Amino acid sequence: AGCSSSSDSSSTTTEAATTTTTAAATTEETLLVGVAMPTKDLQRWVQDGENMQAELEAAGYTVDLQYAANDIPTQVSQIQNMIANGAGALVIASIDGSALGTVMAEAEEAGIPVIAYDRLIMDSAAVTYYATFDNWDVGVKQGEYLVEALGLATATEPVNMEFITGDPGDNNINFFFDGAISVLQEYIDSGIIQTPSGQTEKTAVATANWATDEAQSRFETILSSYYSDGTQLDAVLASNDSTALGVANALAANYTGTYPIITGQDCDIANVPNLVSGLQAMSVFKDTRDLAAATVDMVTAIMEGSEPPVNDTATYDNGTGIIPSYLCEPIACDLNNIEEVLIDSGYYTADQVGLN
Ligand code: BGC
Repeated sequence: AGCSSSSDSSSTTTEAATTTTTAAATTEETLLVGVAMPTKDLQRWVQDGENMQAELEAAGYTVDLQYAANDIPTQVSQIQNMIANGAGALVIASIDGSALGTVMAEAEEAGIPVIAYDRLIMDSAAVTYYATFDNWDVGVKQGEYLVEALGLATATEPVNMEFITGDPGDNNINFFFDGAISVLQEYIDSGIIQTPSGQTEKTAVATANWATDEAQSRFETILSSYYSDGTQLDAVLASNDSTALGVANALAANYTGTYPIITGQDCDIANVPNLVSGLQAMSVFKDTRDLAAATVDMVTAIMEGSEPPVNDTATYDNGTGIIPSYLCEPIACDLNNIEEVLIDSGYYTADQVGLN
């Protein structure tokens, strides 16, 4: 990223010689990059797409940016169009990482490199690189926050905690959820963490499409079945903000006890009011500008035939072997640092999130 290039094909040779060479500057046609995003439902994917498009265009590429409304067949046909239109590289944030086998085979056949974006695409050798955040660390940060906020290290009385994670087809939940549990496990084992619903397995606490309404209805049932007798709910480990929002919505109408500590992820624009008012204690901020920049660096390197930057070659096996990855750093965010993290960084404007 950050390479300058001229979009004016009539630029003089002198000018071209003093300009950093990009793939676009060295070929006749502008190279097409296909960017397939899952949904516009969550602000982060909108920012991801916009950031990447802007940076790729600044580097001289043409971008085909598509959103699939969380519908797998739509995403598959969008990717097929990108292949048919001669994309030189594909950047894909999959809806279901295990549902793209056929179209990935088509990309491989056409010799198009694929960067899995944020979510790993499974069981396909077409995936050449993976750009994401340190997903395990996201979960660890949520778990550590709960330990700290609930004072678990010195607790003598048990606390009641419920769990919610995301779509079972999203490989990230294995890192978010397991990362958090890795921190909480000793308290689960010692009985300090109790779960009145008994729903503790990842499969039992998953949420199709990470949908807020599904999270809400599951928690309405949990609250009416296990907490309507006045049982205190102390905390909810929620893997991200769209599910945390569903939990908060369910609590608003169905719970009158002391308000629980709820975790989240993304600092989604819809959740900022709850972070400010205390209806959600924390979120994990993932600066999508960093991820977009890292991905653009990967695309540029691939297009130029050089080695893309990676910083992890041990963690992400997609079933065909380890996929070389670039991991960006997540940041725990709560009332103490929200202004610094979200506003001072320029990620949102104070007006946008009502923080002025
Ligand atoms: C992303 C999260 C997001 C979730 C739901 C995950 O794969 O990493 O940032 O909250 O999908 O869209």
